[in-house]
Amino acid sequence: MRLSRYFLPVLKENPAEAKIVSHRYMLRAGMIKQASAGIYSWLPLGLKVLRNIERIVNEEQARAGHIPILMPTVQSADLWRESGRFDDFGAEMLRISDRHGRDMLYGPTNEEQVTDIFRSHVNSYKDLPLTLYQIQWKFRDEVRPRFGIMRGREFLMKDGYNFDIDYDAAIHSYNRHMVSYLRTYERMGLQAIPMRADSGAMGGDDTHEFLVLADTGESEVFYDSAILDMKFGDRDVDFDNVEECAGIAKDWTTPYARTDETHDEALFNEVPEERRKTSRGIEVGQIFYFGTKYSEAMGANVVTDSGDRVPVHMGSHGIGVSRLLGAIIEASHDDKGIIWPEGVTPFHCGIINLKQGDDEADAACEGLYAALTAAGLEPLYDDRNERAGGKFASMDLIGLPWRITVGPRGLKNGVVELTSRKTGESVEMPPEEAAAKVVAIYAAL
Ligand code: ATP
Ligand code: MG
Repeated sequence: MRLSRYFLPVLKENPAEAKIVSHRYMLRAGMIKQASAGIYSWLPLGLKVLRNIERIVNEEQARAGHIPILMPTVQSADLWRESGRFDDFGAEMLRISDRHGRDMLYGPTNEEQVTDIFRSHVNSYKDLPLTLYQIQWKFRDEVRPRFGIMRGREFLMKDGYNFDIDYDAAIHSYNRHMVSYLRTYERMGLQAIPMRADSGAMGGDDTHEFLVLADTGESEVFYDSAILDMKFGDRDVDFDNVEECAGIAKDWTTPYARTDETHDEALFNEVPEERRKTSRGIEVGQIFYFGTKYSEAMGANVVTDSGDRVPVHMGSHGIGVSRLLGAIIEASHDDKGIIWPEGVTPFHCGIINLKQGDDEADAACEGLYAALTAAGLEPLYDDRNERAGGKFASMDLIGLPWRITVGPRGLKNGVVELTSRKTGESVEMPPEEAAAKVVAIYAAL
């Protein structure tokens, strides 16, 4: 993309309404625009990151064997009356009536909708296990929408639902989700710690939240700092292997890590004092096992191999897709702007032309642009007729991990400059070498 033809409405001033850094940088980098309280338009740069996060979520769901579907945002109240949640959900649910006076709602979550799909089509234990998921907009009329997309009213969520024959099978699904989430967040450059949580309105016994440590997080968390040294990494997992998934889940849930809702002071005190940490955290996901709550209420049964009809065991598993943008920025920025992890960056590499209109500089930039594009990458070429200082400031603000700076002086010696946004380190090298370095970095992801 050439910046002269892009739509990147960067703001010079700090917007007064933004109280935390992620909100401030998202507005300043022209990623989002508030439409009304807690409701945002996604501008091109923000949309690109949102799509990258979705892509990683989809790839990791596929790896775990989960199947994508897409359910409507607007749902009929009748289904929610079957589960009893139409009355229970409270003021967070946006209730609508259509022209015929029928009660509808904008989905805050989809357990009822997916259970209805399941009961209409699945009858036999032979069709289990089954996990369906979607990435779809949700609406919750939050009392205090704030921090931009971090606590929105309309927000994008990955919500997945497992259907299993019994408790043990459902716990395997639970563990499978935990394992796949560990890798999902790591690919986004995040350390999201699974913490024992409170099941609240969903009902059920087993639930963990995934929290990213950040001063601006809304949850208070207590943890054993030993967990910070744990990396999931790039390992092969057999998601059908019950012991393997249970083992990984156990490893990751053994060090003490809880939110204030489930915090147990006595247990916490068993952690060696120097490893006992208290901090704030951003909830970026949650997994639940809730058993037969919905299947019993809504008649989602299957025939077992002995011919009995039993309600299926279910769980639901969410990732805050839009909130993740905020969480990533909270975890990765400096005073100049965002520092995107390579896994989610909106463009792979920035190209800055220090002297637009200079034949040699223009040609070198075009050459780099063509080489990176030919390798399947998306560079962002700042080809505007602007001062270098302004170009650097915008590039730092939008936070691309790599920048190649091209100027007549360097070109006289046959070099351009490759700069890491994260370390600030610059190295001079011939343009072909700079392009090849960037290509190699992304190829290794
Ligand atoms: P919270 O406690 O933050 O209100 P929740 O526990 O009610 O969230 P879940 O039902 O667990 O939310 O939804 C799954 C994920 O969706 C959450 O872990 C969070 O990352 C994201 N999420 C929930 N509410 C919002 C919101 N208002 N804005 C943005 N993301 C949200
Ligand atoms: Mg939650």
